[in-house]
Amino acid sequence: ARVFVPGDSSALSVGADAVARAIAREAAARGVEVEIVRTGSRGLFWLEPLVEVESARGRVGYGPVAPADAAALFDAGFLNGGDHRKRLGLVAEIPYLARQQRLVFARCGLVDPLSIEDYRAHGGLKGLARALALRPESIVDEIVASGLRGRGGAGFPTGIKWGAVASVRSDQKYIVCNADEGDSGTFADRMLMEGDPFLVIEGMAIASLAVGADKGYVYIRSEYPHAYDVFSRALDCARAAGVIGASLMGASHAFDIEARLGAGAYVCGEETSMLESLEGKRGEVRVKPPLPAVSGLFGKPTVINNMLSFASAPWILEHGSQAYAEYGVGRSLGSQPFQLAGNVRFGGLVELAFGPTLRQLVEDFGGGTRSGRPIRAVQVGGPLGAYFPAALLDTALDYEAMTRAGGLLGHGGVVVFDDTVDMARQARFAFAFCAKESCGKCTPCRIGSTRGAETIDRIIAGQDRETNVALVRDLCEVMTDGSLCALGGLVALPVLSALDHFGEDFVKARRLGA
Ligand code: SF4
Repeated sequence: ARVFVPGDSSALSVGADAVARAIAREAAARGVEVEIVRTGSRGLFWLEPLVEVESARGRVGYGPVAPADAAALFDAGFLNGGDHRKRLGLVAEIPYLARQQRLVFARCGLVDPLSIEDYRAHGGLKGLARALALRPESIVDEIVASGLRGRGGAGFPTGIKWGAVASVRSDQKYIVCNADEGDSGTFADRMLMEGDPFLVIEGMAIASLAVGADKGYVYIRSEYPHAYDVFSRALDCARAAGVIGASLMGASHAFDIEARLGAGAYVCGEETSMLESLEGKRGEVRVKPPLPAVSGLFGKPTVINNMLSFASAPWILEHGSQAYAEYGVGRSLGSQPFQLAGNVRFGGLVELAFGPTLRQLVEDFGGGTRSGRPIRAVQVGGPLGAYFPAALLDTALDYEAMTRAGGLLGHGGVVVFDDTVDMARQARFAFAFCAKESCGKCTPCRIGSTRGAETIDRIIAGQDRETNVALVRDLCEVMTDGSLCALGGLVALPVLSALDHFGEDFVKARRLGA
């Protein structure tokens, strides 16, 4: 029998290795043949470690499983889907999963991340095979027509970026994948690297064909040592299988990929400081122009995309741009892997076509707060995203609706807070975060972030509220207009949304409960 136990960081953090060992021990003691396959995670984190077994109707899940459950699971005949108090039924029918539209994460949690055979058996490499049969311009056209936009935050059309690099003549071009997933509450890149790394490799290979690049880099944040390890091993497997390397799947195009580990700077998620870091320099933002499409890594034309953007390309090539564009709304086409975290009952990965409301995400999927208290604020798009009050939970999650509501979608991170949150402290945190992570290149961010935190301290202390709130608003305007990159340029979103929607938290008398 085959038993699937996740080896993803989320599952490992709650004892998945010990569970795998306990199942192996119990099987050996009973003389039962069991093959334990380590997979990625399905992204249903409250059920981890989620153990699955094959049945004629599909995989049956048990979770969350503890090592001490092993004997009882065998007694219950779990290898044949037997009943047990932790039996969840068919995993594909768990509503949290069944209600999703998993295009990018279709295989995550299902396959052995280091088995190319498994990847192929579950539909992998079909997008690349089609790309190999197309002319480079046609690949670019396909991505443009799909409407795919950058999943890293800015939402720039991916196909336009690819087309720009394709049109530049150069002896050397690069593909750079941004996996410096630093936003609070985000984990989609990590899940892919640990659960379906060949998808990312396939997506980057498609990009290399489109623009004529022969070398790729994946920049992985330093806090992801396990993802780095799995992804590096996946690169070795892909190379050994002839998917990448001197010949891309037997074609006359060479393309190899190197994984690089960052050094712990949030700003290296900004594309130009990431390039500096990749070149071995301090992660400091570059002035644009020149755009990386013209002069990027080592001064060569470079495609830089978020990992989720690359991971969307294989589906688009396999199924066609029109099929992809049928998902989503307006100019936000395709699917977005939302990541639900913070004070929420059912945290995890929820991939949906663009357009659900925040309420659907945090209430229908998330089940409200974990504390059981009312939702007071939801931050969307990382530490520089806006805070939404409960009254705005019907805001749609697409690029345009988010912008209209004064926020941004970012990398799709959604963090929930209950009514015990102190929004003045959250606003202070935004400035303090910016001060800590600022690369120091421009004055509004380098100095403004520290002054901002100090000014909010004065508001919290009850000193001349009106003057200091006006100062904060003024500072936000300066930082928005005068910062060189999005780190300083977006800090106004969390600060002003906190002030505008939760102004009562900035009144001292109220803070003291008077
Ligand atoms: Fe550096 Fe901040 Fe200026 Fe960005 S806004 S370039 S992080 S100092």
